[in-house]
Amino acid sequence: MNKTIRLYLHIPFCVRKCNYCDFVSFAGKEDLFDDYTNALCREIRINGKLYQDYETASVYIGGGTPSILKPEQMERIVSTLNESFRISGTKEKRKGLRRQRIIRPVTEFSIECNPGTVDKKKLKGYKKLGINRISFGLQSSDPDDLKMLGRIHTFDDFVESFEGAREAGFDNINVDLMQAIPGQSVKSWMRVLAMVSIWKPEHISAYSLIVEEGTPFYEKYKNGELMLPDEETERDIYYYTRELLEKSGYFRYEISNYALPGFECRHNIGYWRRDNYLGMGLNSSSMVENVRWKNTEDLSAYLSVFADPKIEEDISGSGAEYLAEKGIIQERKILTHKEQMEEFMFLGLRMNGGIRKQEFFDTFGQDFDFTYGPVVYELKTKGLLEELDGRVFLTDRGVDVSNVVLAEFLL
Ligand code: SF4
Repeated sequence: MNKTIRLYLHIPFCVRKCNYCDFVSFAGKEDLFDDYTNALCREIRINGKLYQDYETASVYIGGGTPSILKPEQMERIVSTLNESFRISGTKEKRKGLRRQRIIRPVTEFSIECNPGTVDKKKLKGYKKLGINRISFGLQSSDPDDLKMLGRIHTFDDFVESFEGAREAGFDNINVDLMQAIPGQSVKSWMRVLAMVSIWKPEHISAYSLIVEEGTPFYEKYKNGELMLPDEETERDIYYYTRELLEKSGYFRYEISNYALPGFECRHNIGYWRRDNYLGMGLNSSSMVENVRWKNTEDLSAYLSVFADPKIEEDISGSGAEYLAEKGIIQERKILTHKEQMEEFMFLGLRMNGGIRKQEFFDTFGQDFDFTYGPVVYELKTKGLLEELDGRVFLTDRGVDVSNVVLAEFLL
């Protein structure tokens, strides 16, 4: 069987920093877009040579705000990707997790867009480039929420962008929402969900806000000025989300992700299933054949290393070591057998189908019950895990305290 790899490209620019965001992204650096595009294209070409034996399973352009780039810059990036990696664009029939037969392109190719940074022309251009999935960062439909979060767009901007995407022919759209934000109640959240459901995106992600150090929200939190919903409200928000979305035809396939049948995000499933993935661009992460690493988060170092055309000739043969020497690849680590098993468990259990004991054995050559039997038994007794037909998965109560449950699988 062919080896496969999933590709992630990071675009670290935004119009403005949101108040909760600690991602590596920069505002007001429009003058660097071209240099960054050139650097990223060079990194793509280099990696295309290093990973020429791999078939591309999915592509995800994330950020930051990828849609902030000019159309010709995005075009250059995608053309370089197509020239450097094997990306198949033909269609296949496949079964969704709920066994409906639908026709989807073989390679899922997603791009993150922020409302207010795309217009119909740009979206049509993405479609022409072979991008077949759009992920809109909306977070909320409420004007006060959007302002408080520091978002650059209104709900009307989202509607315009969403309609533009449909018009451009996108039939696979995700909307990112944020739960448990300051001042949110179950009622206000349900209004957000209802507003978004009207547009029937194929996929909805609903993650809870995490207050990260170094953000404006953290400063407010420290000073007691951030009124976050209490734990009970947060749990209620989670339950009602599931209830309302299931009534609308979505199903939860991962702790925070909902999809119409057949529209689960294959790229993200790849992360939870521990497929090979290669990150390119600033601060991107990779894991290929159980070796993990991260790209530098130093923008000027990244630009200057890839500004030198010689790097494309110099690299032949030495590959990853060379990029590590140049300070691009950092924190390179070969995962131990134990770490791989732990990851298999705590990533796999995030999905509602959980993990297959047989797959554990096939992957690690070790009996599942021998390795995890006592932990599973204890968590089953507490009603946090369930076992059925050789699968182990979280119960609803287990999802409630998933962080605690997943931590039990560290050996
Ligand atoms: S748009 Fe996304 S990446 Fe950019 S600042 Fe806001 S949350 Fe961060």
